[in-house]
Amino acid sequence: MAYGLETQAVHGGRGGLGHAHVPPIDLSSTARIDDPAVGMASIDALAMGAAEADNPIYARLYNPTVARFEQALAALEGLPEAVAFGSGMAAISACLMAARARGDHVVAVRPVYGGTDHLLNDNPFGLAVTWVDAEGVHDALRPTTALVVVETPANPTLALVDIAEVVRAAGPVPVLVDNTFATPVLQRPAAQGAQLVVHSATKFIGGHGDVVAGVVATTAALAAPIRQMRIATGGLLHPFGAYLLHRGLQTLPLRVRAAQRNARLLAAALRTHPAVVALAYPELDPRWPTLSAQMAGPGSLMALDVGDAARAGAVLQAVRLCTPAVSLGSVDTLIQHPAGLTHRVLSEAARAAGGITPGLLRLSVGVESVADLRADLWQALDCALAGPG
Ligand SMILES: *Cc1c(COP(=O)(O)O)cnc(C)c1O
Repeated sequence: MAYGLETQAVHGGRGGLGHAHVPPIDLSSTARIDDPAVGMASIDALAMGAAEADNPIYARLYNPTVARFEQALAALEGLPEAVAFGSGMAAISACLMAARARGDHVVAVRPVYGGTDHLLNDNPFGLAVTWVDAEGVHDALRPTTALVVVETPANPTLALVDIAEVVRAAGPVPVLVDNTFATPVLQRPAAQGAQLVVHSATKFIGGHGDVVAGVVATTAALAAPIRQMRIATGGLLHPFGAYLLHRGLQTLPLRVRAAQRNARLLAAALRTHPAVVALAYPELDPRWPTLSAQMAGPGSLMALDVGDAARAGAVLQAVRLCTPAVSLGSVDTLIQHPAGLTHRVLSEAARAAGGITPGLLRLSVGVESVADLRADLWQALDCALAGPG
């Protein structure tokens, strides 16, 4: 019988430790190769994208500390394998580079993270992009479409996409879901048929704002070419980072649920503040009743529209406890201005198409005492309403 999510989070990737209670950090850049025949067979296997071999050969090909984190993350996502990278963007880039072998076209649903949007538009890998809304996926497919890309809940508007519907529309084309906002605690895209599940592990998986990393969980067949891209481009996750992420997974369910509890209370409170023109939170979305089947809870991110960029700036200058900063998914509460920062790289038209208005603020709720967060945000919104002077 498969263990429950909390058990998997605590125990995943911890087999074969001998007397050790926690996994060691293996920093070796190279490995002793005492038997040349084993060395040759191992380098052949790893170069073909195998998850492991009898000899690790060299740390760009395999690292046991990183592999433990990958196993633990893959189990949480309900997929057989995972490949970790030095950042979320390195993970997404490797997925795109690997997709290029299947075709030269990608269908993507806006909005997505600003860096992903920029990468798809900039097209350094020879993959033309067609932007659609979720209903437009099927009609945008070409014989050469290699990948469908969606993010749900999406950064920064919290827009929701029905994953199963996109998977149906995509037919034989693999669907990549950026699951950074939901984490496997709240959403397992593989259960809806997605074959590639990507995380900026910098966010909830690390959870403490001290690691930049990315990971993609996927099938064995799709993992091999992605691993080959990691070997070829060297976008590695360092073993120190892998250790911290693996450690972070143990408390992921606890952190995600505690932050979500705070966020639910804050969303209900803040939407009644007169400075808040609109507040997006998955549970308040009109489509939530149908989509709550794919998500076990609304999470801890929300987007507040305070009307214009000046008011958004005033809120950011007035917060005392919340940190004005990009990134998200940390134990502390972060607030930022997408139009000015994370999604600044987009054209104004692309921002408008994605619903990223000038007065939008993205709030990543942490695990502090909710009364303190409410008081801080309320006084900051009061300041914005009062205006300058
Ligand atoms: C931050 C983020 C990324 C990029 O990840 P990095 O670790 O910063 O490279 C990708 N997708 C989403 C949804 C993100 O929030």
